[in-house]
Amino acid sequence: MKVDNILIVGGGTAGWFTAAALRVHTPHLNVTLVESPNIPTVGVGESTIGHINVFLHSLGMNISGNESWMTACDATYKASIKFTDFHKLGGEPYHYPFGRMDVDNLDVTGRDSWMMKKWVYPDLPQSDFVNSFYPQMPLIYGNKIHQNREGIDLLKPYSGVQDLAYQIDATKLALWMKGAMCQDVTHIKDDVVDVSLDDKGYVSGVTTTDHGELTADLYIDCTGFKSLLLEGALKEPWHDWSEDLPNNKAWATHKPYKNKEEEMEVWTNNTGIENGWVWNIPLWNNIGTGYVYCDSFVDDDTALGEFQRHIGHGDELDYKNIKIKTGRHNRGWVKNVCAIGLSNGFVEPLESSGLVLVTEPIDLLIKTLTMRDGKVTQYDRDAWCLVQKELTDAWKYFVMMHFYLTERDDTPYWNYWSQEKEMGAHWWGIDFEQPHFWPSGMVATGSFGLNNTYDVGMELAICRLKAEGVRYLSNAYLCIAVGSGWNITNDYTVKKTTMVQPNFTRDVVENKMKSIWLYWKNRTEDVQAIANQSPTMYEYLKENIYK
Ligand SMILES: Cc1cc2nc3c(=O)[nH]c(=O)nc-3n(C[C@H](O)[C@H](O)[C@H](O)COP(=O)(O)OP(=O)(O)OC[C@H]3O[C@@H](n4cnc5c(N)ncnc54)[C@H](O)[C@@H]3O)c2cc1C
Repeated sequence: MKVDNILIVGGGTAGWFTAAALRVHTPHLNVTLVESPNIPTVGVGESTIGHINVFLHSLGMNISGNESWMTACDATYKASIKFTDFHKLGGEPYHYPFGRMDVDNLDVTGRDSWMMKKWVYPDLPQSDFVNSFYPQMPLIYGNKIHQNREGIDLLKPYSGVQDLAYQIDATKLALWMKGAMCQDVTHIKDDVVDVSLDDKGYVSGVTTTDHGELTADLYIDCTGFKSLLLEGALKEPWHDWSEDLPNNKAWATHKPYKNKEEEMEVWTNNTGIENGWVWNIPLWNNIGTGYVYCDSFVDDDTALGEFQRHIGHGDELDYKNIKIKTGRHNRGWVKNVCAIGLSNGFVEPLESSGLVLVTEPIDLLIKTLTMRDGKVTQYDRDAWCLVQKELTDAWKYFVMMHFYLTERDDTPYWNYWSQEKEMGAHWWGIDFEQPHFWPSGMVATGSFGLNNTYDVGMELAICRLKAEGVRYLSNAYLCIAVGSGWNITNDYTVKKTTMVQPNFTRDVVENKMKSIWLYWKNRTEDVQAIANQSPTMYEYLKENIYK
């Protein structure tokens, strides 16, 4: 298949992000975007993670130079995701900060160094884990912005260029991209009412109400949960994940600031409440917030009441009720239809993965189209599908982990997670519909390189049950596991160790490790001094972006 003409169906974030990337990276292709004037976009999507920086950088919209777009979408920075009342109701909240861990100068014990510290000092708060491994924590706690463009050793490996993501109004950002980058895109506002297939099952054209038939070599399905082309026309099977991630509804709104200086946090906060969790995303002009819940546990009206109580607002705000469809299609690119965004798959937004599932597929699409001058083979489509499948599955298992590790049992919803929901085969990544046998040995490599989730899941279980060490576990999984009170080095596991290492006593461990622990303490104090000199996010944005 040779691609010269592309038709994007859908004008949500996925549609316009794709159009902008195609315009910038493949200007020789003809791109048309058709969007319905009648069907609204999903209209949420505000919290991003570090992955977005590569995408924005490729479009010339990056922290090192051009951030003028931020004002168009009320953007703020985001350095972490904070989880409140996920582990225990009223327990210590935990952070999952972005970026790599500071582990380069550790000996073979690696990240187990902290597990041993916790064993030696049992009263250490769990937050000491991220404080030890992420030098930027004093900045985060103080709500301070420091981009570390100079590459100060003390702050390494933190780098704002990579590790400061954004909190944005994604709909406004997409519209900004449309205006700034998509002048050469033919834009049609019309409803697609029919999709025709040729005798090989390829899409031969789409019929619109007022513009007749539109044709292309490649059709990008960005029609949201509808999945008009991939699922509707090509009948690609859907893997429903409602059993593993049962949250299926959301109430979303925006609330005004009471005190911008204090409330404009450099993290997205997710708080577990009665029947789900509430996101809190500080934008420049207001705070985006929403309640993700499961309607098997609570009806919509009761959920709205719970949400309003939590945010301290009533009917004076506009609330939108959204139906969530969690899962993915078997393949995302079939014949001449490539689905990007919600039309391909979705995992509930606990880890802000929605836009990653837009930008990573776009990245691979552009690579595919530029690799051999627009010639696309079945191998290319298969490779694209494999990576998207692994990526979406990775998010699924990662998000599941936050719920599985909870100790909460104070409502039927949380009791379900901590006491009733069986991990069973899912834990091993064995999808009942599509068996996998671990270790699969496959590594999905998106822009950032991504461990295969089945292996990560396996490592977690092995760590828990056998190895009693965490050195092979990924940063992300560790932050959530430790935040959830998961301490693998304890009197029991140490006692077993002493069979082969009789000297493994608190004194010996303390002596051996104290230089590392002292390094963490001194580094934290030194970074605290930098944080004290740095502007708060509000001050920084006011002085540099929203001037
Ligand atoms: C509750 C919730 C919270 C979220 N929070 C986050 C978050 O914090 N961070 C994050 O990264 N992501 C988040 N997401 C995901 C994010 O919103 C989506 O990934 C993103 O908006 C992409 O949506 P989309 O463009 O695929 O679909 P949509 O926004 O639904 O757009 C679909 C488009 O298709 C068009 N269309 C449909 N049918 C037709 C037709 N017949 N003819 C012509 N056009 C048609 C529509 O008009 C529309 O333009 C969240 C999603 C949900 C549901």
